[in-house]
Amino acid sequence: MSTAFIALGSNLCNPVSQVEKALCAIDNHNFIKLEKVSAFYNSPAIGPGVQPTYCNAVAQISTFLTSEKLLKTLQEVEKHQGRQRGRKWAPRTLDLDILMYDQLTITCGQLLLPHPRMHQRAFVLKPLSDLLTKNFVISNESISSLLDKCQDESKVKRIRCYDLKARRSF
Ligand code: ADP
Ligand code: MG
Repeated sequence: MSTAFIALGSNLCNPVSQVEKALCAIDNHNFIKLEKVSAFYNSPAIGPGVQPTYCNAVAQISTFLTSEKLLKTLQEVEKHQGRQRGRKWAPRTLDLDILMYDQLTITCGQLLLPHPRMHQRAFVLKPLSDLLTKNFVISNESISSLLDKCQDESKVKRIRCYDLKARRSF
């Protein structure tokens, strides 16, 4: 059994309910168990032009799927929720990224682990820090010191909590 962390993001078609729906879909998978979910956050889009605000969260899962199968499964969930692959950083109903999968490091191919940009993104680090101790090390640096270095840290706002048992945010 492996442990993985998944970043969820949405800025289209009611982002909060897109993230809630994705969490249910992930938990309903036979080989995935949702262990912990961060609070939900709002963050400004970094993509081209004026874009709606994102809802972001991070989930910790246990799974019997390999990292490749997990990516495939998450891409199916994205597709099911209307994700269209357009321009890079275009608005999206759902983006699911694998941040970490056990201690696995993959530096080339379709799946890169740990996620190559996670340590620069406050909208990932802030929810992730809900689930880990502040001394947790990513790329040789503690999560709290990585967060301190993020320019957009103050723009990432906690908006609601998630109740794992009720499978609802509030
Ligand atoms: P982004 O998440 O960077 O905005 P996409 O969701 O369109 O962009 O993903 C682009 C590609 O990134 C995917 O087709 C996938 O193969 C690749 N990828 C590489 N590493 C990861 C990862 N750790 N998690 C999710 N996708 C990844
Ligand atoms: Mg993605």
